[in-house]
Amino acid sequence: MPEKAFIFDTTLRDGEQSPGCSMNLEEKLAMARQLDRLGVDILEAGFPIASEGDSEAVKAIAAEIRRPIVAALARANQLDIDRAWAAVKEAERPRIHTFLATSDIHLQYKLHKTREEILKQISWAVGYARSFCDNVEFSPEDAGRTDRSYLIECCHAAVEAGATVLNLPDTVGYCMEPEYEQMFADVKARVPGMDGVMLSTHTHDDLGMAVANTLAGIRGGARQVECTINGIGERAGNAALEEIVMAIYVRRDVLPVFTEIHTEELFASSQLLTRVTGVAVQRNKAIVGRNAFAHEAGIHQDGVLKKAINYEIMTPQTVGMPASEIVLGKHSGRHALSKRYEELGYQLTKPELERAYELFTRLGDQKKNVYDEDLIGIVNEGFEHLPEMFTLKLFQTVSSSAGRSTATVELEKDGEVFHDSATAEGPCDAAFCAIDRIVGVPGTIADFSVHTVGPGTDGVAEVSIRARFQGREFTGRSTSHNVVEAAARAYLQAANKATYELKRAAESAAATGSVHSNEMVDRFFPGGY
Ligand SMILES: [Zn+2]
Repeated sequence: MPEKAFIFDTTLRDGEQSPGCSMNLEEKLAMARQLDRLGVDILEAGFPIASEGDSEAVKAIAAEIRRPIVAALARANQLDIDRAWAAVKEAERPRIHTFLATSDIHLQYKLHKTREEILKQISWAVGYARSFCDNVEFSPEDAGRTDRSYLIECCHAAVEAGATVLNLPDTVGYCMEPEYEQMFADVKARVPGMDGVMLSTHTHDDLGMAVANTLAGIRGGARQVECTINGIGERAGNAALEEIVMAIYVRRDVLPVFTEIHTEELFASSQLLTRVTGVAVQRNKAIVGRNAFAHEAGIHQDGVLKKAINYEIMTPQTVGMPASEIVLGKHSGRHALSKRYEELGYQLTKPELERAYELFTRLGDQKKNVYDEDLIGIVNEGFEHLPEMFTLKLFQTVSSSAGRSTATVELEKDGEVFHDSATAEGPCDAAFCAIDRIVGVPGTIADFSVHTVGPGTDGVAEVSIRARFQGREFTGRSTSHNVVEAAARAYLQAANKATYELKRAAESAAATGSVHSNEMVDRFFPGGY
């Protein structure tokens, strides 16, 4: 009989740690709701000690998302565990997830501690976490490079102290499949008291092996897998949730497990993450990339038309990928629009639908056919839940191949209208400068990319921007027929996020009298694994 593999999503923790993927409270909540719809079993909501923002997000998620287990990460010390418990305790089913490095490399060069000291710390930390919560996960960080006999001792210490889940991370993405599989088999066979303790995988993609290693871990006896939507995460990322889930589904003939993920929510989950972080997946990304089900070569197209199974091992519908057809024109009504959004996996609220309809009719005036990609673009661009935001009312640029460009912008905030203009080398730069002058928090561009959305010359440009404001990065994304306008809107979105977050950080620092920023934590406590 196949057994259930529990899906532990860490998009909001390990995923969020990756550059360009930081999310604010509202964005994390939106993502958590979607992960709940997707059916994840455990949701790692954050690393509360890392910042006030992280702590608040974990609290909000624990209070609202009731079905899955909600986990909070903590290093193996009192302050971290106290913070984690304070943030997660209101959850219906809370879990404290504590970790400590066990490889000689980390002991020697990072922690400067002996093996004996680490063993004691594991026993203490797991026991301390258990004094609050009966669901405690322990991770020996860098398990993949830890001496096997010592790893067994560490796992034994954790199990004796009451750990209910043992997670064996390949923190640096170094393991080969047979090694990773064997590690699980060894721990299962050699650690006493493993009955009732669940083994878990946590893999990174530095050598492109994350998903393969996850499946190897399952063969070795793991029944929980840690993963992220779109595979975001530290460096090359974590194992991609959608790939693991579909591999288990498609190859259920050879794998001993099943999941309870609602696969038809996979595409919508991927899209939502892209929307909130501004980090797009590559076109050929397995399962959720735009080309994942596109058959270009004539011989393939012919084969698929005869019978999809010729070239498709799963259908786009299974993962909730909409068929890319011409769907709507400018005469389509709100009802048709709302219905199509539902099919695409977006549940729009009434005001959101109104806003989408307004943008849709505007687009319908500019182009004859509105494609699914356009509708997704509208959602990506159109909604902001941040209070006190500036909106772009008017935008004008003058540029020439010789000399500088000028941009004039008109922004509105709380009914008040602001104008300014600036000159710079190019029209985008000029627009950003003009926005900076009004918003008052100057930014610098860290990344700027343009894609075309929708087929043919009828398509629109989609601009994604990552910009740095006072040392922190924020993202923005927008679509328009006019590339410069899309860039200005994307930049304004990032600037809005920055002003909101920086103001909130300043308020909370003033309230607690502490300087507790992400940057400080990063510097002194390299977080996560
Ligand atoms: Zn990790």
